[in-house]
Amino acid sequence: MARDVAVVGGGPAGSRAAALLAKDWDVAVLEEHAVSGQPVQCTGLVSPRVMEIAGVRQTPLNVLHGAEMEFPGGRRIAVSSSEPKAVVIDRADFDRRLAAEAMDAGAEFFYGHRYLSRRWEGRNRIHYRQDGEVGEMSARLLVGADGQGSKVAAEAGDPRPREWVRGLQVDLPIADDSDMVDIHVGSEAAPGFFAWKLPCGDFTRVGLCVSWEHGPPAHYLRAFLKKLSLQDVEPLTKHCGKIPLGGRGRTYGDGVLLVGDAAGQVKPVSGGGLFPGLKSARCLAAAADGALREDRCDAASLKGYEKAWRKEVGKELANGYRLRRIFLRMSDEDMAKASAMVDRPDVRQLLNSGDIDRPSDLAPPLLRMVPGLLRFSPRLVSAMVMK
Ligand SMILES: Cc1cc2nc3c(=O)[nH]c(=O)nc-3n(C[C@H](O)[C@H](O)[C@H](O)COP(=O)(O)OP(=O)(O)OC[C@H]3O[C@@H](n4cnc5c(N)ncnc54)[C@H](O)[C@@H]3O)c2cc1C
Repeated sequence: MARDVAVVGGGPAGSRAAALLAKDWDVAVLEEHAVSGQPVQCTGLVSPRVMEIAGVRQTPLNVLHGAEMEFPGGRRIAVSSSEPKAVVIDRADFDRRLAAEAMDAGAEFFYGHRYLSRRWEGRNRIHYRQDGEVGEMSARLLVGADGQGSKVAAEAGDPRPREWVRGLQVDLPIADDSDMVDIHVGSEAAPGFFAWKLPCGDFTRVGLCVSWEHGPPAHYLRAFLKKLSLQDVEPLTKHCGKIPLGGRGRTYGDGVLLVGDAAGQVKPVSGGGLFPGLKSARCLAAAADGALREDRCDAASLKGYEKAWRKEVGKELANGYRLRRIFLRMSDEDMAKASAMVDRPDVRQLLNSGDIDRPSDLAPPLLRMVPGLLRFSPRLVSAMVMK
């Protein structure tokens, strides 16, 4: 089988790239599972613009107007807006719809096909496993959209992401259509990240992520459920997964491009990968289209992709990682102090204007309003504000 493009991974980034490229090129998608969207490894919280970028029509499970945060020491701060700030999506359905769009555009999906390796010989010779048998496919361009543990990225010589956080969540049979997500930070709730209780309409999703060095998150989730007095509710489902943070190195090579989690395109503050991954899929399609037309898929001909996606989302990802490093250095006591500093009507008003896809935009005006925050990491804060 000789193809123009082989995409590894029928998740959102891979399906979106395939949909855009299949209009003009012969595209194959290799997906190891039997369908797109399973198993679910996502909370499904995205900005409303993600649906537009994805080109998918889907009724959200819930629409959120704000968040209430609980800090160590128990201080709670609520921020909300009259504008919808986020929607909760059914992630399995979202992925299936993205795959269907790609199929409609002409991409051919090979489910149950596990990518194994490739050899670059001016075109890619790709090996995959299906039903215990090894098969071969050839493609001018390989797109690595195979998620956080990307084999394609590892083979392309990419260093691992700077860190991973581990997540675990349960869906509980408790109907809740309120419009605020409940977020908890601190070493008891979720060391190195945060815990959430998300109203999803017919059910409630409770989960958290923790930094890698804190080990498996199960006992933190048990403690969090107990804190919420939900420990005796039998879950409907349980999901777990890993989120790569801090970005990867190069996202292109001879005959290969990386996108989505495979490329480290994840917002470091929230762990959200759908917005940056889908934005970058569009940049990938433009770069790939140019290279295929010139019939030059060597690394030098593909490097414009990296520049293009970094222009779209790179600054936010870099600043977001600076914010994360500041957050990681803060003790519970620091967080309690910081929460006291920002618990003011004018600051809440500023926070209300925030955008979940660009949280670091708030840093400069916030520091002007509350210069005392500078004490938590002057060097990192000024690096972020100066960039
Ligand atoms: C607990 C948790 C909560 C999250 N919550 C949110 C959230 O609320 N909002 C948000 O925006 N993001 C969230 N994320 C992140 C989000 O899920 C990812 O960023 C997103 O799934 C990345 O999409 P992708 O297409 O790059 O990769 P994936 O969705 O991981 O898709 C990769 C695909 O590649 C396939 N694959 C892997 N290896 C191979 C192989 N060798 N051969 C063939 N196929 C292969 C996989 O089966 C998979 O289908 C969360 C993640 C976790 C773990």
